[in-house]
Amino acid sequence: MNQTPAPREDFPILSRTVRGGVPLVYLDSGATSQHPQRVLDAVREMDVVHNGAVKRGSHQLAEEATVAFEEARDRVAALVGVEPGEVVWTSGTTQAINLVSYVMSNVAAGRGDHAERFHVGPGDVIVTTRAEHHANIIPWQELCLRTGAELRWLDLTEDGRIDTDTLDVIDERTKLVAFTHVSNVSGSISPVEQIVAAAKRVGALTLLDACQSVPHMPVDFKELDVDFAVFSGHKMLGPTGIGALYGRRELLDVMPPYQFGGSMIELVTMEKTTYAPAPARFEAGTQPVAQAVGMGEAASYLMDIGMDKIAAYEEELTKRILDGIRPLQGIRVLGPVECVGRTGSVAFHVEGVHPHDVGQYLDSRGVAVRVGHHCAQPIHRHFGVYASSRVSVGPYNTVEEIDIFLEALAGVRHYFRLED
Ligand code: PMP
Repeated sequence: MNQTPAPREDFPILSRTVRGGVPLVYLDSGATSQHPQRVLDAVREMDVVHNGAVKRGSHQLAEEATVAFEEARDRVAALVGVEPGEVVWTSGTTQAINLVSYVMSNVAAGRGDHAERFHVGPGDVIVTTRAEHHANIIPWQELCLRTGAELRWLDLTEDGRIDTDTLDVIDERTKLVAFTHVSNVSGSISPVEQIVAAAKRVGALTLLDACQSVPHMPVDFKELDVDFAVFSGHKMLGPTGIGALYGRRELLDVMPPYQFGGSMIELVTMEKTTYAPAPARFEAGTQPVAQAVGMGEAASYLMDIGMDKIAAYEEELTKRILDGIRPLQGIRVLGPVECVGRTGSVAFHVEGVHPHDVGQYLDSRGVAVRVGHHCAQPIHRHFGVYASSRVSVGPYNTVEEIDIFLEALAGVRHYFRLED
């Protein structure tokens, strides 16, 4: 086995076998990643040793839980180059996007305060892209339905990159541009700088879906100069049920909350309520504390390895996948075929074989891949298919695992009698 940046022995699940005893080759980290022992221990320790109500008790357990919860926020903030007060816990990327979209339809016109920046109504425009996960399309469709705003999108080049020639859909009427940093299908990295510049020119807000970039490359939201960014714990070696919304401090300060209840208030009378400052005002109710601590531990684990090192290593794996698929007959990569400006999420179409059959064949050899539309039907339609198979790497995958996958893939069409 070659040396992986994330040591194999840190991940207990990777040593298990599947399907009657074949070693697991886990190439589905784009769907959900595996957890290192450090993360598993941090979550368990939280429940076993420190369990108490965050910010609500004077006793020692409550104090320990509160410290761990806030330290986790510090660590997650450090991973993406922002202030802890700019990180709002959410249940994941999906909830984070829905949070912003709900705020934007709750703000009344003519309030005369800073929150008016978020008001969306008839005549306004929301821009997204054809490369998005459904989580970054549907909330904006629904926002437009609720408010009478218009939805537009940036289109794609033939190989699935965001086509910067379509940036002119962003005009003076645009309130927000929501776009992915990395496509979960094509693996293509978006031209963030150009999109942000186009949005800034017309005074529109930007929201970056970073859940496929944060686990795989150095990401600094301040440097990228986006207004909001969202990502999920379970894609970055952390637990499910936890994620984060980054918001520029001055925006979070004037943004009204969208869920109401405990832990997000300053003062409540029977007549009215004033709200706590951000981020607390967006965290109504009891939070998934152990999961937040797990996400914080995952952030530290990634930083201890170094995101530069992970990106460089995963680029090698990606190159190997692309070079290995290129000579295979009847197999088409859906996305850039050269390893430039892309990550190790590689979707492909096997001519004549349904993706579910491809997945099952690979699974019988221990190789776990994702099949289907990957919650991204529009980009599949762009490529002229309804579904695909997808390998996606993590910092624990070995070169040998890529070779096992490629060898199995080379036999798929023969197995289904499409080749001699
Ligand atoms: N956006 C992208 C690009 C994704 O890959 C995913 C998960 N597949 C999501 C959003 C949704 O993330 P979650 O299910 O963690 O909310």
